[in-house]
Amino acid sequence: MIRAVTLDAAGTLFAPRQPIGETYARIAGEHGIVLEPRVVDEAFRRAFGTAPPLAFPGAGPDALPALERAWWRAVVRDAFGSPAGHPRFEACFETLFAYYAQADAWALFPEVVPTLRALRDRGVRVGVVSNFDGRLPGLLEALGLASALDATVWSSAAGAAKPAREIFETAARRLGAHPSELCHVGDDLEADVRGARTVGATAIHLDRRTRRAGSLATLSGLIARLDEPGYA
Ligand SMILES: [Mg+2]
Repeated sequence: MIRAVTLDAAGTLFAPRQPIGETYARIAGEHGIVLEPRVVDEAFRRAFGTAPPLAFPGAGPDALPALERAWWRAVVRDAFGSPAGHPRFEACFETLFAYYAQADAWALFPEVVPTLRALRDRGVRVGVVSNFDGRLPGLLEALGLASALDATVWSSAAGAAKPAREIFETAARRLGAHPSELCHVGDDLEADVRGARTVGATAIHLDRRTRRAGSLATLSGLIARLDEPGYA
């Protein structure tokens, strides 16, 4: 019996409105730093993909904002490469960090609000489980999603990042469900699908590009999927 559904955030509920490389190059340019969008885009993917988990086990809540900023500063510095040595790098980083806290930086996928509403109508508790930082709750609020959610769990506050089991256990607890009663949906096979399965949760892969067999192409198919045998 699925009592709660959790969703990943970036790539699942919303995506950057503009390619990361274009935004980085544009904001860097405002600070007099020259970046090639395609180069920085690729470098960002590499830096983000190889960064340590966005979680700081044992750190108190007061320590988190500085740790989160330092984590992102290292990723952005890696993505910039040698232009990170520019004297305006720090100011540029602060602008980028503030930019991605705003709803304007992101495009909400069109089926998200109706899907969240339909989940609520079924009496299912709904949460977000994301490898994110303290900007997430404000961002969800600004995107108009906060009132549709029963819990928002992000890695830096949870002290564990997906695919670690602890973040899914935290989400299940917050939603008043056993992990086996949880269904998690996300676009990352490792973080979302393998991670959720380690706690015995049901996992559904969202694949908006290649449409793998068994994966959802959009969240619109989620309600029908939950009605299939084995999900009820
Ligand atoms: Mg994602």
